[in-house]
Amino acid sequence: MKYGNMLGTSLVICLCTALVVVFAFLRPEQALLIVIVYLSTIVIMSVMMFFIERIYVKHKTSVDKDDFVKVTENLNSEFILWTDDFDFIKFNKRLRDEMGLKNNFDPKEIFKAVLGLNTLDKDSIKPIISSINGGSHETIFKNYSDKSLSIAWSTSLVKKMKKNNLYVTTGFNLTEIKKMKVNLASANDFFNASMELAEIGIIMSNDRKKYAASSETVRMFGLKGNSIDINTFKSLIHPNDRMQFDRAVKSKNEDGDVHNVELRIKSMGKTAYRWYSFRYKSIKATDNTLPLFGGAILDITQEREKDILIERLAYIDEVTEIANRNKLVITGQETYECSHLLNYTYWIIVLDIDRFHIINDTCGYENGNYILKNFAHILYKFVTPGGLAARISGDNFALLIRDYGDNDLPVRTAKSIQEEFAKLAVGDFNSINLSCSAGFSKMPDDGDSFLDVLEHAEFALKSVSGQHGTVCGYEPSMHDSIIGNTELEKALALAIDNNELQLFYQPKFDLTTNKIMGVEALIRWIKPDGTVITPDAFIPIAERSRLIGRISEFVLNEGCRQNILWQKMGYPNIVMSINFTSTDFYQTDLQDKIVEALAKSGLEPEWLEVELTETLALSDIDYAVSQMNKLRELGVKLAMDDFGTGYSSLSYLQILPITLLKLDRSFITDIQNDNIAYKIVSAVISIAKSKKIKTIAEGIENTEQEEILRKAGCDYGQGYLYGKPMPAQQLEDLMENYK
Ligand code: C2E
Ligand code: MG
Ligand code: MG
Repeated sequence: MKYGNMLGTSLVICLCTALVVVFAFLRPEQALLIVIVYLSTIVIMSVMMFFIERIYVKHKTSVDKDDFVKVTENLNSEFILWTDDFDFIKFNKRLRDEMGLKNNFDPKEIFKAVLGLNTLDKDSIKPIISSINGGSHETIFKNYSDKSLSIAWSTSLVKKMKKNNLYVTTGFNLTEIKKMKVNLASANDFFNASMELAEIGIIMSNDRKKYAASSETVRMFGLKGNSIDINTFKSLIHPNDRMQFDRAVKSKNEDGDVHNVELRIKSMGKTAYRWYSFRYKSIKATDNTLPLFGGAILDITQEREKDILIERLAYIDEVTEIANRNKLVITGQETYECSHLLNYTYWIIVLDIDRFHIINDTCGYENGNYILKNFAHILYKFVTPGGLAARISGDNFALLIRDYGDNDLPVRTAKSIQEEFAKLAVGDFNSINLSCSAGFSKMPDDGDSFLDVLEHAEFALKSVSGQHGTVCGYEPSMHDSIIGNTELEKALALAIDNNELQLFYQPKFDLTTNKIMGVEALIRWIKPDGTVITPDAFIPIAERSRLIGRISEFVLNEGCRQNILWQKMGYPNIVMSINFTSTDFYQTDLQDKIVEALAKSGLEPEWLEVELTETLALSDIDYAVSQMNKLRELGVKLAMDDFGTGYSSLSYLQILPITLLKLDRSFITDIQNDNIAYKIVSAVISIAKSKKIKTIAEGIENTEQEEILRKAGCDYGQGYLYGKPMPAQQLEDLMENYK
């Protein structure tokens, strides 16, 4: 009974008791009867109230159930109201709709089906009851349309009653969520399959320490599970690339942009690294999301290998396998900028192997390559961090070295290289003096760019050309001599235009007949003031510029013109010898030019002879032979000049199609006293004879020398004994005497 009802009842009882007491005083004779009636009335009322209360309670409970049914009927969740005697089971509309329940259904059967019960008794519903304390249980069942539903249930006690209790069981429909989960799982499979097909691995992390790895990442690196911590992942990265990865991971750049690094990564437990492109991105945290760092990993080993191959072809010298000129220029330019900005000092040392073409010619190409490789190997030993060793052409090498305040470094380094190189003169190279020359310049002081500095080192090297084994540093004053040469070039060009070049002729004598059998055309530059400049002073300069072409053309045409003129003048036919430099000789249209000169003059080819030096002929033996053969085909004679000054081996006489061999003056000068010189000359003459090659001795200055050579079997002689190089007019006088 409620408190208010109790108070009301108590007041009524008190009031009635007060009335009974008043009546009892007013009518004392009936007092006993009044009290008895009063007490009886109270007892009867109490009994009535008890029963009324019972009836009320019973009535009231049934009203609660209906209230609940009303309240839950249209709620957007599944509700079952039930009593544990199962006489009362109500499903709300939503659940009825989901189940497809029409009017005729057995609530108990549906109740069992929905809550996953086999029977309905106090024991079977224990698990449902046990969920009262916040638990839930999930059931999967089918509705009348055979559609599967999955609902998580939780139950609450609504009211305890005498015979039974009223419960409400509330459902949370998981069917759609489960479907989404399945979809998500298949989306994940789809994603993984795509990544696998594209061979792209993915790693993602919220804290940049623990990474979720996609199945392709797991496959790529042989991971043990789908998660990897940063330190384990880093241990798979090549030590040289870890810093890049660290930088990527630690980057606070959360701009959402994609960045890229290329890393070498190996698989778990493997040693070989492969190249990967790691495209990564950081995403800022928002109110609803955590920060995200992750990236895609793509195997680019094949592309890198191709790049390496291309780079190798472009930047590595094939013979020595060190950097080539291209690489030197690129590295040099970067180093130059660095030295300029950071005040570092670098030296560029350019080295040239002395007489390399002779080593190559006499020892063969394989041995020549062996020397080049070993020279490169020696240079490599002197490369310091940030430096480079390169082969820039033929036998020219360069060394880029950093200097930490030691001005003697380039000289000391060049000298050490020379010492090391000299040690290679063993075995097949025993008889060869292996030396090299060097020129060097300083970076950034000695030029405005790397190419400038390199060119200056090359100037320095050129300045010592011919002085084997020397080391020379660049001096700005070297430009003066170069400017001097440039001035000379200009003057020479003018001299050609002004016809200041003239041919002198030196007679060649037949040692058997004592007759002039030919002349050698030797050029002179006769200045307007009468000064005569000999070819040694200007031919090398002319050779460096294009002037040599014009000079040689003049000599060829003038020589042919003069010879035919002498023939026409009635002098006995003689051979006109002209000298060619290697620039002339290796020209592809050489043959055409000779044919043209012969045609223009009308001289028969047999009266023209071309003199070539042995070093010229041997610098590219195959090409030289083919050029010589072309000249021989024309019918022009070929002489090998200055024979014996180089390192040529007599075996080349077999290959070169020459008609005359000119013994160098150095053998003749002291032939009367020098027994070795005599023996060499005699041997060369007899070998040449066996090859049907004529011989001529240069520089015969006295009859003693002439006699020795005649006895040795030499065919011809040339020298001051017969006459110095002279103008055509003088030679005509001489020819008159020997007619
Ligand atoms: P080369 O072809 O060996 O010429 C022989 C040189 O020896 C000539 O010097 C000649 O004057 C010199 N000579 C000849 N006999 C004697 C002698 O008995 N004693 C001494 N001491 N010297 C003698 P030249 O004329 O000064 O020529 C020097 C070199 O210049 C030539 O050597 C040749 O290689 C080159 N040369 C000369 N004229 C031409 C030319 O028209 N074109 C080219 N490309 N080179 C030329
Ligand atoms: Mg000559
Ligand atoms: Mg000569």
